[in-house]
Amino acid sequence: MTKAHRTAGILSIGDELTLGQSLDTNSHWLAQRLLDIGIKPIEHVTVPDDLDAHVRVLQRLAATCDLVISTGGLGPTADDLTRAALARASDDELIEDPVAVAQIERWFAKSGRALNAINRVQALRPSRGECLENEHGTAPGLWGRVGEVELYCLPGPPREMKPIFEKLVRPRLRPMNDRLVRTLVLPTIGLGESDVALKLGELMRRDRAVMVGTTASKGVVSVRLRYEGDPAHADAQVRDAEAQVRERLGPIIFKHGEVSLAAELLGLLREQGLTLATVESCTGGLLGGLLTDVPGSSAVYTGGWVTYSNAMKQSLVGVDASILSPSGPGAVSAACAAAMARGGLARSGASLCVSITGIAGPDGGSEAKPVGTVWIAFGHSSDAAVEARRFVLAGDRANVREWACVAALAMIRQRAIGDEAPKLLREQERVTIQR
Ligand code: ATP
Ligand code: MG
Repeated sequence: MTKAHRTAGILSIGDELTLGQSLDTNSHWLAQRLLDIGIKPIEHVTVPDDLDAHVRVLQRLAATCDLVISTGGLGPTADDLTRAALARASDDELIEDPVAVAQIERWFAKSGRALNAINRVQALRPSRGECLENEHGTAPGLWGRVGEVELYCLPGPPREMKPIFEKLVRPRLRPMNDRLVRTLVLPTIGLGESDVALKLGELMRRDRAVMVGTTASKGVVSVRLRYEGDPAHADAQVRDAEAQVRERLGPIIFKHGEVSLAAELLGLLREQGLTLATVESCTGGLLGGLLTDVPGSSAVYTGGWVTYSNAMKQSLVGVDASILSPSGPGAVSAACAAAMARGGLARSGASLCVSITGIAGPDGGSEAKPVGTVWIAFGHSSDAAVEARRFVLAGDRANVREWACVAALAMIRQRAIGDEAPKLLREQERVTIQR
């Protein structure tokens, strides 16, 4: 009897993964694919290239999951132990698979080489198992069983692993159709995690049909919805829960489908016929990068300046020397941010300009201006004034820089959606400076 697949264990193999030299992206990808078809991943395990550890984990996963999918360790060298581990865990012996030999021979022939003894090892499989053809490399995948539990072993390189999964594994999986996991992520901008939680209130209780949780990263708080149960009710339940979340959080939810904050903002500005310029100091062009990541951004984004030094702030966007002089407010100030936005507006001819100047760290902070202090100013060509806001952002240099971009996008977005512009997360102070 073959078991239906309600749950899965995902196993990643390789010293480079356990030692932290490279990142396991295969598990992440496989977990999403499995969830999509209604199989719930319940464990991710990473083992080094060590036969005993590998066999132990296979046996343990086979005892707790309905299905195991592993990646890696199918190469031709002595440290590639997946074939041996599968054979040992399933109490089987390795034999050579003639079809696989022919496939690997064909692969080598394509580049004018003959199959060598080292690669021939890759045609080995447990006698009761099967090889899964790899059209993008030399290592075939393997199918086998440990006890009653089916095991699919796929090669480590994602460009080989993914097509084998899609073509040869996915069609053979048998999800239990009586339960389904459905997830939805609604990212928000503006409020902190606890304020979002306060607004969500009892929607976050753990005993509800759709579980609602939050995660926070660089100013974006994502509301995560998860339904698990009868497939017949999945769509309606998730739709209901989404409507309730939207009702409570309103316009702070920014993402529609797979759209980034920058993409959503550019769409809004485009609808309104507005163009945008940037003047960046501590973010060094990161904001321009986020905007130009979006296809079609040229309809809205005119370009910008990276004015890292004081001299460039003066020469490129006309910041007054008195602002930057030792007796003035300095480069990280409302006056400087406002002057940058003003200069950017005038010189770009864009309808909007946003500027960022701050201290990303790790050095350069002071008591009055700690690391993470960032002034962001925003001006509209039809306004008489420029608005500047001071943030004190948390985290390391990379965090501060990324979060500053998010805050800048959020400021423009508040204006674009006609929000009354409530205080953003980590915002400390707001001033308006006449142009
Ligand atoms: P090959 O035939 O290429 O040797 P393999 O099955 O032996 O395949 P590994 O040697 O374990 O695979 O890994 C080869 C490469 O695949 C790694 O260097 C890495 O770039 C990538 N890789 C392996 N495992 C993962 C993983 N879990 N996530 C992302 N990439 C991975
Ligand atoms: Mg390896």
